[in-house]
Amino acid sequence: MTLALITETKPEDWIYVSEGGATIVFSYRGPHNVQFSDQVLRLRKVPHGSLNSMLLDTNTEQPDDPMTTFQENIISKLVPSEFLPSLVVVVLDEGWLRSLIVLRDGDRPAERRQTDQIDIRRNKGVLATDLIGGTPIAIEVKPKWGYLPTECHLSPETVALKTTTCRFCMHTSFRMKQGDIGTTYCPLDLFSRDEMRVRKSLGALWAGWYESRGSLNNLRLFVEGRMAKPDDDHSVQLLARFFAAGESTDVQNLRELFSSTLAQVLLDSPILPLLSNLQRTLDILDIEGLSRLYTQSSSGSSCDSLGSSIPDPSMEEWKDFVEVYQSDHHSWDHTVPSPGHLRYYLMAYLLSATFKDCSIIIRPKSAYVGSFDATIIDMDIKSMDRLGKWERLDRKIVEHYKSSASQRRCIDSQRVSQSGYTHRFEELSKWR
Ligand SMILES: [Zn+2]
Repeated sequence: MTLALITETKPEDWIYVSEGGATIVFSYRGPHNVQFSDQVLRLRKVPHGSLNSMLLDTNTEQPDDPMTTFQENIISKLVPSEFLPSLVVVVLDEGWLRSLIVLRDGDRPAERRQTDQIDIRRNKGVLATDLIGGTPIAIEVKPKWGYLPTECHLSPETVALKTTTCRFCMHTSFRMKQGDIGTTYCPLDLFSRDEMRVRKSLGALWAGWYESRGSLNNLRLFVEGRMAKPDDDHSVQLLARFFAAGESTDVQNLRELFSSTLAQVLLDSPILPLLSNLQRTLDILDIEGLSRLYTQSSSGSSCDSLGSSIPDPSMEEWKDFVEVYQSDHHSWDHTVPSPGHLRYYLMAYLLSATFKDCSIIIRPKSAYVGSFDATIIDMDIKSMDRLGKWERLDRKIVEHYKSSASQRRCIDSQRVSQSGYTHRFEELSKWR
């Protein structure tokens, strides 16, 4: 197969769609082209000022974007292909990228523009299925952490909190203290498989979207191929018309219609149980248990940061990892992790982070409400140097939550049913 060349399109053929911390996405709107029609372009970003300091030789052959190889070799072994976008490599060009920046940088949110920019030294990017364009609406949900950790690896100081309040709710509380906009969304409701709770969580996502003027990243709505904001009357009217199946509706009712429609889509799909299962089985020690195992295993270097002395795995090692995860993992006693399996557990935690950080795109199969496709996107490879930061953040979040007066009770339905405490679950639900 011949590689796609971005220079076969014009920068003005691409419109800005959205961006995350590491990548930015544009959608193709140019004349029909076998390689580019119905595709988005995903480009890597770099913080301002780091273009000169980072070593990246633009004159030599660069490896393919790791997202494509990671999905092809690793993710596809764990997630059925029907839930994955197609990803292919596209050859970039520095002059072309500079023109794209001139044309489209103004469409990016101001706070993003101040922080980073497209990495113009890359000579390879990713073309992915356009899940936003060619459809009246598309919905992006970032579900985050869908489980509570098991007690056995938690310290006496954290066990009560971490098994009562989920990581996302604690993190939200921590962020609000720092002045960020809050949300009442709890992922354990979304992952619960209980229709009322799923609807409640979607209602909370909608309220967060509305109140933050679309700035929270847990819910994004796209109308006619562009990101919709709650103060854009035209988009909101189109959303209302879509969810009311052609009948006009009050914007006030929209939250209800949105929640009930999406709840049905998610309850009918295996995606959320799949993600929750991957997250919880890969993060089986919690960061606390992982840290303890790391300290035990690394002789005399107990003061270095978690994972700091560990090189990132190669793709071959990731392939071996998946084989072990699908076989031996299930027979190991994870309550007493073996120091000999340290590297395995570190990699498992990194992969769990990929599944905690991904998004789901939901879009109608046709122009009418009723049947939808759901696709998992943004499954990027995480590196070992993040582990130390995550461990410190975990400690900060829990310490903050401990000192705050809040005591939110988040129910992990899978854990409750596994331990046979269904009567206790009923009892706890009354407290929500
Ligand atoms: Zn929660």
